[in-house]
Amino acid sequence: MEEELNKLKEENEQLKKINTVKSELISIASHQLRTSLSALKWILEMFISGDLGKLSNEQGSYLQKAYNSNERMITLVNDLLMFNKVEDSAITYTMKKVDLLNLVEQALFEFSGESSKKQVEVVLLKPENGLPLVTCDEGMIRVVLQNLIENAIKYSNKGTKVFITVKAEASTVQVSVHDSGIGISEADKDNIFKKFFRAPNAVEKDAVGSGLGLFTTKNIIDRHNGKIWFENMPEGGTTFFVVLPII
Ligand code: ADP
Repeated sequence: MEEELNKLKEENEQLKKINTVKSELISIASHQLRTSLSALKWILEMFISGDLGKLSNEQGSYLQKAYNSNERMITLVNDLLMFNKVEDSAITYTMKKVDLLNLVEQALFEFSGESSKKQVEVVLLKPENGLPLVTCDEGMIRVVLQNLIENAIKYSNKGTKVFITVKAEASTVQVSVHDSGIGISEADKDNIFKKFFRAPNAVEKDAVGSGLGLFTTKNIIDRHNGKIWFENMPEGGTTFFVVLPII
């Protein structure tokens, strides 16, 4: 009996070691990839802006395609890095009082290029009576907001609007992101927060995606003792809700 127990312990230690090596490998590979992709982004930007000489329309259009493709790869690598980070249960969160409205505004600013490219208008509905500060890990909650806003734009149809509402409710702050996009079918509902899951209508709408964003997002919200869920709208589209305790 004791022998078996020792064997199990040994195997467990071995598995833990393998897992750590795998995480480190993902982290090193992703960081290296991101560095190269960022360098490429910088060079492509110089070409596109005309800093390296005037381009023909055809050259400009191909370089823009290369730029967009590079941007998508950067997003995938960032998803992978973030996933690797939240899977590590030893990682500690740095909790401090944060102005969520400000954080939402910053995230929105980052997506202004993407939303105008996709012709999706993003509207922020601010609380009428201000908002209490929320105790959270600012960097992690920024990732949550980025994921939800990115998805809402990505899965929206051209010419539609995305509404983001931030409000205080009892001892919590609620952020909701509403879109009029492709929606989530009944068959896919239970899988949305699972790692690597991408619904067929999402793959059809945008072939590029890791299926890691919402898994990571839920993991972060859980570690804040918050809640995350979504509702399909009768008129089409989806609303994601995040509730964080103010503490
Ligand atoms: P992805 O990289 O595919 O966007 P996520 O983990 O962010 O991965 O999302 C998982 C899946 O949840 C998506 O592939 C899609 O099927 C679904 N989904 C997420 N957000 C939305 C949304 N706003 N509208 C419709 N489907 C969504």
